[in-house]
Amino acid sequence: MNTVLIIGGGQAGGAAALALRRHGFAGTIRIIGQEPLPPYERPALSKGYLLGTTPFDKLVLLPETLAAEQRITLTMGVAVTAIDRAARQVTTDDGQRLDYDALILATGGTARALPGAPVDDRRLFAIRTARDAGLIRERLADARSMLVIGGGWLGLEVAASARKAGLAVTLIESGPRLCGRALPPAVSEILAGLHARQGVDLRIGVAPADIGADADGVHARLADGGVIHTDIGVIAIGLRVSDDLAAAAGLAVHDGVLTDAAGRTGDPAVFAIGDCARVHHGVHGAGLRLESWQNANLQAEAAARALLGLPDAAPEIPWFWSDQYDLALQILGTPDPIASPIHRGAPDTGRGSLLWCDPAGRLRGIAALNAPRDVAMARRLIGTGLIVDPARAADAGVPLRDAVLAAM
Ligand SMILES: Cc1cc2nc3c(=O)[nH]c(=O)nc-3n(C[C@H](O)[C@H](O)[C@H](O)COP(=O)(O)OP(=O)(O)OC[C@H]3O[C@@H](n4cnc5c(N)ncnc54)[C@H](O)[C@@H]3O)c2cc1C
Repeated sequence: MNTVLIIGGGQAGGAAALALRRHGFAGTIRIIGQEPLPPYERPALSKGYLLGTTPFDKLVLLPETLAAEQRITLTMGVAVTAIDRAARQVTTDDGQRLDYDALILATGGTARALPGAPVDDRRLFAIRTARDAGLIRERLADARSMLVIGGGWLGLEVAASARKAGLAVTLIESGPRLCGRALPPAVSEILAGLHARQGVDLRIGVAPADIGADADGVHARLADGGVIHTDIGVIAIGLRVSDDLAAAAGLAVHDGVLTDAAGRTGDPAVFAIGDCARVHHGVHGAGLRLESWQNANLQAEAAARALLGLPDAAPEIPWFWSDQYDLALQILGTPDPIASPIHRGAPDTGRGSLLWCDPAGRLRGIAALNAPRDVAMARRLIGTGLIVDPARAADAGVPLRDAVLAAM
C-alpha cells in the first residue's frame, strides 16, 4: 500500500492521517477537504469560539506546519465529486484525478435544513462549520434576541452562549423533551430547569409552522398559534449525513456508510469513519451511527490499525460532554432511558451525578454535572462485576469507590 487518500478534512480525517503516521505508515497520505481550512475540531464552535473566547488556532488538530512535518498533503477547499472504485481513483471539483490504494471516507455531514426556512448570512443561521459559527458570532455583538430551533445538544449550547452574550433567547423543541433522542428523561429535566433558570423562554413540544427572515429579523409562527419575533435565529435540528458520494460509488449506505467496527466497507480498499459511518457491531440490528468527538477519534484509530494490519485497540467506554453556562456535563457509559437513576449529591441544581445500574447493581452509565471525580471513578467501575450500594452511592459525602459492595 503506497497511497492513502482521505476524503474529508474534519476531525476524523485529520485524526486518521495522524494515526497512520503514528503507527509507522511511510507512504503518501493526502487529505482532500471541502472546507478551505486545515482539519479542526468542532465542539468549541457552539461554545468558546462562538463567544470569541477560544481562537480558531486552538481548534486546529492538523496545522499546516505539523502536516508538512508528518508529510501529510493537505488539499483544502477542494471537493471530491466521484469515486471510481474499479480504477481506484477519485475525481475532484477542480478537475484532478487522484489514485489511491486505500480510501478513507470521513465526510461527516451538513446541518439539516428546515424546509421553508432558508439560512442566510445575516439573520437565520445553520451551525456546523467554523464559517457558520463566525457569522453567528458577528451578530451576537449587535443582536438583542435569538430564536433557537432545536433542543438537542447543539441548540442548548447555542442558547447558553447567546444568554452569556446577553441576548434574550427563545428555544423551540418539537419533541416532548430536550435532547429526547440522546438522553434519559432525568437529564432532560435537569437541562430544562437549568435553561429556564437562566432565562431561556423554552417552548417544548411545539413545532414551528412557518419560519421566515426579512430586514426586520426572524419571524416564527408556531403550531400552537404562538408568534415569535427575534433579531436572529439558529437552526440546530441535526445532521444530514454526507454519504451520497459513497452511494454513487455503489457502496452500501443507510443513513451513513455501512461499515464494520474497524470502518471497513464492502470494498476492502475503502473505509468510512466518524459521523458519516454506520457501524455494525453485531448487537445493533440497524447499526449505530454516532456523532461525537470521541467516536471520530476512535474510528480514525481503528481504521488506521486495520489498514496497517495491527491488532484492534482496547475498547473504550462511550463518553460525551457538553458545556452550558457554568455546567460541565459528562455522560459516560450507557445510561438507561427507562430505569430510574440513583441521584448522587444534587444533580438537579448542577452539582452531582445520576447513576444507572443494571438489575444486578452493576454500574452501566453516569451523567455527571460538575462532578469530574465521579466520572473518573465510574470509568473504573463500568464493565467490572462490582456491585454499587445505592444508599452509599446516593451520599455525595461518600467517595464513589467506597460505595462498591463486591464483585459478582
Ligand atoms: C457545533 C458543534 C459542536 C459540537 N460539540 C460536541 C461536543 O461538545 N462533544 C462531542 O463529543 N461532539 C461534539 N460535536 C460533534 C463532533 O464535532 C463531530 O462528531 C465530529 O466533528 C465528527 O467529525 P467528522 O470528521 O466525522 O466530520 P466533520 O468534522 O463534519 O468533517 C467532515 C469534513 O468532510 C468534508 N467533506 C464532506 N464531503 C466532502 C467531499 N465530497 N470532498 C471533500 N470534503 C468533503 C466536510 O466539508 C467536512 O469538513 C459537535 C459538533 C458541532 C457541529
